[in-house]
Amino acid sequence: METLTDRDFYPDWHDALDLLNRDLAASEPGVEPFALLLNEYGVYVGFPSWGAQGNALPEQPEAGLHQIADAAQESAMEFLWRTWPVCPEHGLGVHPRSEGEQVLWWCAGRGVGEGHGTPVGTFEARRTMSRRASKRRQGKVSRDPDLR
Ligand SMILES: [Zn+2]
Repeated sequence: METLTDRDFYPDWHDALDLLNRDLAASEPGVEPFALLLNEYGVYVGFPSWGAQGNALPEQPEAGLHQIADAAQESAMEFLWRTWPVCPEHGLGVHPRSEGEQVLWWCAGRGVGEGHGTPVGTFEARRTMSRRASKRRQGKVSRDPDLR
């Protein structure tokens, strides 16, 4: 697979990838950033040293941040062998959800009507804001040798 580094070719997809890479760096420090990968079937979101999982992105303009986030999530979960990303507050897996112009990582929460969304690209900001979440995160690091 060839890595597409020319931002002029798919500027919107590169912008979307920047947001996802922010979330990836915030939640999985040290993991290689996402990239757009090209093979004979189309463009994929994955990791240059490893490849990609799932389907090629639909042709533009149909594919936007939501589809890029879907594709990134699929590759990340296969690459990391665990759920990605995870809500910093509840520890639950989240999924992309479009609300108006915005794309959110949607968490179902712990009770009925508790669902909430975090804009894609803002996981880092939330982590530093939420003391509860960072406590939970530290607990998880010590239990899971994969994370350090
Ligand atoms: Zn949550």
